[in-house]
Formats: sequence, structure tokens, C-alpha cells
Amino acid sequence: MRAITVVPGAKGSARLDDLAEPLESSGAVLVQGLALGICGTDMEITHGAYGWAPPGKDRLVLGHESLGRVVEAPEPAGLARGDLVVGIVRRPDPVPCPNCAIDEWDMCRNGRYTERGIKELDGFGSELWRIEPEFAVKLDPGLDDLGVLLEPASIVAKAWEHIERIGGRARWQPELVLVTGAGPIGLLAALLGVQCGLEVHVLDRVTEGPKPALVGDLGATYHHGPVDEACQEVDVVVECTGAGELVFDVMDNLTPNGVVCLSGVSSGGRSIGVDAGALNRELVLSNNVIVGSVNANRRHYQQAATALANADRDWLRRLITRRVPLDRFQEALERGPDDVKVIVDLTS
Ligand code: BGC
Repeated sequence: MRAITVVPGAKGSARLDDLAEPLESSGAVLVQGLALGICGTDMEITHGAYGWAPPGKDRLVLGHESLGRVVEAPEPAGLARGDLVVGIVRRPDPVPCPNCAIDEWDMCRNGRYTERGIKELDGFGSELWRIEPEFAVKLDPGLDDLGVLLEPASIVAKAWEHIERIGGRARWQPELVLVTGAGPIGLLAALLGVQCGLEVHVLDRVTEGPKPALVGDLGATYHHGPVDEACQEVDVVVECTGAGELVFDVMDNLTPNGVVCLSGVSSGGRSIGVDAGALNRELVLSNNVIVGSVNANRRHYQQAATALANADRDWLRRLITRRVPLDRFQEALERGPDDVKVIVDLTS
């Protein structure tokens, strides 16, 4: 079977390999890969800046935003041939830590978790893959290839769940949300905000391409200028760019008890001058919270599946701006100016 593989740490090492079919020991459910979403993490891995191969191996099968069709599943798995499925990315650490022990692996305490296509476990970028039944999420068949949006939507569902839990420490009636970054994560964060009945503003740099209309058609407001001009008195900020300096701009526009959730991973190495005393004062005097959020557990995948099922299918379809056949997967790793979500078609 063909698979996209990469040597983590070696820039430019991604290639299409012919691999043996996955062993049953890697999961009782055999899946035909249909599509693979590409995100910033995949680009970091192929640029040699992130990622770990499975122990004893040089190469990692890339891909964590999956979509596939069940080929065979054991009776008790609750899955049947033909079912549309997505694979959960993270596996609990072997100790396990208190969170992994209760299936909250997204909150792993010791960092010994593994992740398909990212950290020590082969990913889903292959024509066939296997998965343990408890890590497969069955999808509404009507979603079709929009199901490839489930993994990024799960990241956002976790972020929103945590924002709500933090907000819930006091009486919490948020009204206004600012999402920074109109990439797939930002747009999905905006979708969930709108679904919660909130007034959503989205800030990005571009003035052209599909993003402004995608935001507008959601019933949210698009901005491309400075944060101050986008909106003030914001109850929640979902930061999806990874541009660290934005956090400080955003802090000035946050309401008391407001929450800033950081979901973008920055590459590091950018320094700005910060008045740490003023930031400290602002956080304390306003009960503000800045929280980081990564990954998702099964509950978040289920929340995301509900959010996608309730979303306008035509709007979701417009998020997938490019489909690339497997033998030209390298094209998916190059960012185009009008890209939102680029997917690799594993069947062609
Ligand atoms: C993935 C997460 C993962 C994170 C860190 C993201 O791109 O969506 O599942 O936990 O990278 O490796």
C-alpha cells in the first residue's frame, strides 16, 4: 500500500513509500483511507521541526486528520463494513498518569502520550490503516468527505469546553467572542461560537480570498485591522494564529473575568518587549485567564461530530479549498494564498 512517510527532524524527507499492509496488532479495525487533512503540524514535521518516529524506526507515516471507510471490524467493535470513521490521534501514556487513566489523554501529565502521525505512532496517511475500536469515531454517513474536518473540529470543541468550564467559576453570560486567525481552526472556532448563540468577530490579515465571505456567511463579522478596531469588551478570545504578540494586544480589550484561550502553536524565537508588571496587574485585577489548549479526548470528538452534523454542509464544503491526489501529496504541503483546508485524496 502507498503511504506518505517522513524522517522526523529531516527537512524535505517526505516521500511516497510502498509499505506492507498494517499488522493486526496495530488495531482490530481495518480501514481504507479516504482522505487526509493537512495542517500546520504536518508542515512542521515535513520541515524537520517537530515529530518523532516510532521506536526503532527512522520513518513515520504522516497524517493525523483522518477519514476512512471500515473494511473489516470484529463483531463487538460496534462498527460494520462501509462505516465512515475517523481515528483519534492521541493514546494515553503507559504509566498511566491520573488523566490518561480516566481517558483524558489530552490533559496528560507526564508527556509520555503518543500521537498517530506525530509522536511515535504511524499516522493515517496511507491507503489502509488499522485502529483499535475504542479509538475509532463513527460518523454520520451524510457528512461524506466533510468528515475529514472532525479532528480539527475536536481541537476546537475541547477549547470551547475548557473556556466554558473556566467561565463557569462565576456567573458566566458571555456575549462577545473574538477569534484571531481565519484558518480552519479559527473558522471552526467561530462556527462553534455561533452555534452557542454568541456574537462572533474574526480577525485575520487577508482582505481577499474565501475567508471574509466564509466568516460573513456564518453570521459572524470579519476584521483585518488592529485588534482595537475589531472589537472591544470581549468576553472570550480564541487565539488560533500562534502569533504570541497578539495575546498582549487582546488583553487590553478583555472584559473582567474574560478568558483568552491559546490554541495555535507558535514556532518560538520571536521576542517582544512586555511590561510584565502591567500584565500581572491586569490579569489579577480583572480575574482574567489565559489558558492553553491542545489535543482532544473522545468526548470532544463526539461534541465535534454533533457540531459538524448541525452545521450548514455547503459552508463546511467551502472550508475544503483544495484536494490533491495521493501521488502529488507534496503539493498539499505548500500553502497557497487562498487555502483554508487542503486535503489529500487517498483513493486516487
Ligand atoms: C493535533 C493535535 C496534537 C497537537 C500536538 C495538532 O496538530 O491536531 O492532536 O495534540 O498537534 O502534537
